[in-house]
Amino acid sequence: MTKRDYYEVLGVDATASEEEIKKSYRKLAMQYHPDRNPGNREAEEKFKEAAEAYEVLSDAEKREIYSRYGHEGLNGVGYRGFSGFEDIFSSFGDIFGDVFGFKRGHSRTRTGARAGADLRYDLAISFMDAALGASTEIRIRKRIPCASCRGTGCAPGTSPQVCTLCQGRGQVTQSSGFFSISSTCPQCQGQGGMITTPCTECSGRGKAVEEKTVQLKIPAGVETGSRLRLRGEGEEGEYGGPSGDLYVFIEVEKHDLFERNGDDVLCRVPISFVQATLGGTAEVPTLDGSEKLKIPRGTQSGRVFRLKGKGIPHLRGYGRGDQLIETVVSIPTGLTKRQEELLKEFDRLSSEAATR
Ligand SMILES: [Zn+2]
Ligand SMILES: [Zn+2]
Repeated sequence: MTKRDYYEVLGVDATASEEEIKKSYRKLAMQYHPDRNPGNREAEEKFKEAAEAYEVLSDAEKREIYSRYGHEGLNGVGYRGFSGFEDIFSSFGDIFGDVFGFKRGHSRTRTGARAGADLRYDLAISFMDAALGASTEIRIRKRIPCASCRGTGCAPGTSPQVCTLCQGRGQVTQSSGFFSISSTCPQCQGQGGMITTPCTECSGRGKAVEEKTVQLKIPAGVETGSRLRLRGEGEEGEYGGPSGDLYVFIEVEKHDLFERNGDDVLCRVPISFVQATLGGTAEVPTLDGSEKLKIPRGTQSGRVFRLKGKGIPHLRGYGRGDQLIETVVSIPTGLTKRQEELLKEFDRLSSEAATR
C-alpha cells in the first residue's frame, strides 16, 4: 500500500503554517473521530491517517525531514507511524481535550501539571426513571495519591534518584546516520527520576484506591447511550493539574408495557370485540398513571390513537413527546353455550343483511 502525501491528507499545501495545519487536522479529527463513527472502518482509517500526518507535520524536526526526503526519510530515522489508538490519544491529549471535552488518560501541560484521568461508569436504569428523571447515588472507585508516601512512590525518608539513562532529562535521543530524533526515556517514562526504595504501602506506584459515593441526578428523557458528565469527579490531577471528569453512560432497561420511539411512547392495549364494534371507553396506562381513552364505534384492530404531550420529556428544550396507543382486538375464547348461540344468530343476521 502506498502512503498518501501528508499534506494531501490534511488538505493543506506545503507552505502551510502551523496554525493552518492544526486547524485542518482538528476538522478532520472531529469528522472521523471513532466516538462519532462507531464501527466505521473507513472513518477509523481516515482518522489514523490524519493523526499520523498531523504528528509529523506539527513537529518541526519531523516535518523538515519529511519535506526533504518524504516517507523514506522518516523510515530512515525509525518513525513508523502509529500502531494503535492509544498512541494517538496519548500524543494528542491536549487537542482532543479541547475538541471533545474528553481527556484520554493523562495529558501533561507545559508546566508539568497533569490533569486527572476521566472515569467511566456504566449505569442501568429503569424505563420509568429514564422517562421521568430520577435521583440516585453510585459508588465509584478511583485512584488517589497514596497517603503513606504522598503519591511519590518512595519509602518515607527516601527520594527519587536521577534516571541513569537520560540523566533526568526524561528524553533520549536516538541517532541513525544523519538524523537524530528524541523520544520519551523508556527507563523512567519521561519522569527524569527513578524510585530506588519503593513505598511498601503502594509498591512504589504512588496510588491508592478510594471508594466514593456520588450523587447523581438523571434528567428526564435520557436514553441508552446518553452520557452524563460530572465535572471534577474523575481522578485528581497532579502537580496542580485539574481533576478529570466522571462520565456516566446510561443504559435503559426494557419495560413490560411501554416501548420508546424517539420521545414518543408506544403501548398496545387490548379491547374486546364488542367494545371495538360498539365503541366505549378503555382504561390505558400512561407514564403519568392510567387514563380513559374513548374508543369510537367500529374501531379496527391495529388502529393507533395519539395522546398529545403524554410521552417522554424532550431532553433538550421544553415539552414532551406523545403517547401512541395501538388497539388490539381480542377474540373471545371459552364461550358458553348461550354466548355461542347469540354469536351464531349474529352471524346469520349478518349474512342476511349482506344478501339483501
Ligand atoms: Zn505509597
Ligand atoms: Zn530517564
